[in-house]
Amino acid sequence: MRLISLEVDGFKSFAEKTVIKFQPGVTGIIGPNGSGKSNVIEAIRWVMGEQSAKSLRGEKMVDVIFNGAKDRAPLNRAVVKLTLDNSDHFLNTPYTEVTVTRKLFRSGESEYLINGQNVRLKDLVNLFIESGIGKESFAVISQGRVSEIFNGKPSDRRKMIEAIAGVGKYKADKETAQKR
Ligand code: ATP
Ligand code: MG
Repeated sequence: MRLISLEVDGFKSFAEKTVIKFQPGVTGIIGPNGSGKSNVIEAIRWVMGEQSAKSLRGEKMVDVIFNGAKDRAPLNRAVVKLTLDNSDHFLNTPYTEVTVTRKLFRSGESEYLINGQNVRLKDLVNLFIESGIGKESFAVISQGRVSEIFNGKPSDRRKMIEAIAGVGKYKADKETAQKR
């Protein structure tokens, strides 16, 4: 599995549709402070199903929508599209290339798509949790997360280990079943 491209449109500082094409090997993103490097990583976490606005440095989820800048009006929706090469079937789907899309409108309405098909947030989250690269995994580590790991409570550290081991999905299913 590897990332092929990321399209960010109206997400945080990305007022214009911006496409990042990842070449094989290591990709580095460089730029001055406040230029949007962390926003790129947050776009990846968001499209993979992140549900905590706080962990995206916002109050409410709609805070991820471009909210205007000098000479630029706010937008009313954010769209992020991530395309992955799945020829090794790392993600549990028959597709050899997978594009996941997440849209959020200022009204609060959301859309989630897997290869152009409308799906539920749960389907999108499950696709990644099953593979062990879900939002709680170590596939994406944000600034500040490292100290969180070292200073965290043992119970929180256990959660992280469980996420890496891929038992997160089963715990989530168990919780849903118990609520019924
Ligand atoms: P550093 O090197 O300091 O870590 P960075 O390159 O990671 O910086 P980011 O934190 O990704 O920068 O980008 C911060 C910028 O994104 C700020 O200028 C902030 O105003 C802008 N920003 C965040 N959310 C929005 C939004 N909803 N609409 C418009 N701009 C936003
Ligand atoms: Mg940063």
